[in-house]
Amino acid sequence: MITKNKNILSGGAVAFLLCLLFCMAVPLPLCAAGTLASGGENGSGNQGEDAAAQSAVPQADRVTYQEGFFYESLSDAVKEKITGISYGEGCIVPYEELKYLQVLYMDFEGQPQVGEIICNQAIAQDLVEIFYELYQASYPIERIRLIDEYGGDDTLSMEANNTSCFNYRVVDGTSSLSRHAYGLAVDINPLYNPYVTYPNGKRRVSPAASEIYADRSLDFPAKIDKNDLCYQLFTEHGFTWGGNWKTMKDYQHFQKALPQK
Ligand SMILES: [Zn+2]
Repeated sequence: MITKNKNILSGGAVAFLLCLLFCMAVPLPLCAAGTLASGGENGSGNQGEDAAAQSAVPQADRVTYQEGFFYESLSDAVKEKITGISYGEGCIVPYEELKYLQVLYMDFEGQPQVGEIICNQAIAQDLVEIFYELYQASYPIERIRLIDEYGGDDTLSMEANNTSCFNYRVVDGTSSLSRHAYGLAVDINPLYNPYVTYPNGKRRVSPAASEIYADRSLDFPAKIDKNDLCYQLFTEHGFTWGGNWKTMKDYQHFQKALPQK
């Protein structure tokens, strides 16, 4: 009897210890990201899992600004994910000058979500501060995913209303490098804030699905103008806004100058 009881007790204790160990082994960011993502729309769950997977093992230089807002050097997993896509052949920006960020944001349903950004190290601190303020103000952002999830295709990313930063590419319709190629430009809710150019005097709206939002006299949520919180925060941090350009308008776009070397 005594032996049997002892076995039952030790079996229970072992199970309890195993359970405890398992719970302790699950990293907190994974739990947090999973919870945040589970309430979101279709597809956002993957984003949360993705973000959690990337951040499960913190890089040694991780800088946490606020809970849920950090930046760090690119992990091997992140490098693998972007190489050949946003980090295309001939990319002149070394991996070491880029940072991987994780931020929280509020989607258009008012649900908190986890976002991922890659940017130049020169603006990483600006971005965690700006996205923290946007989150505190419940500023609606549709999604913040690495452009690699759209094959590095800026049009697909814009059509998905995806907020993004680094992408080694030229300016649409030209052969010169975009400020995005250096990770020094951010596009916010691009479907609602299109890029409007006038090739040969004819208006061109990019993405094409944004035609209706090119009329800036209309009132709609997350429209970036000079009264908008995005405009205020980015300009306070020294960014210029594409909506202020003379010959073309890039309402989604905020950029900073190249760092002096
Ligand atoms: Zn842009």
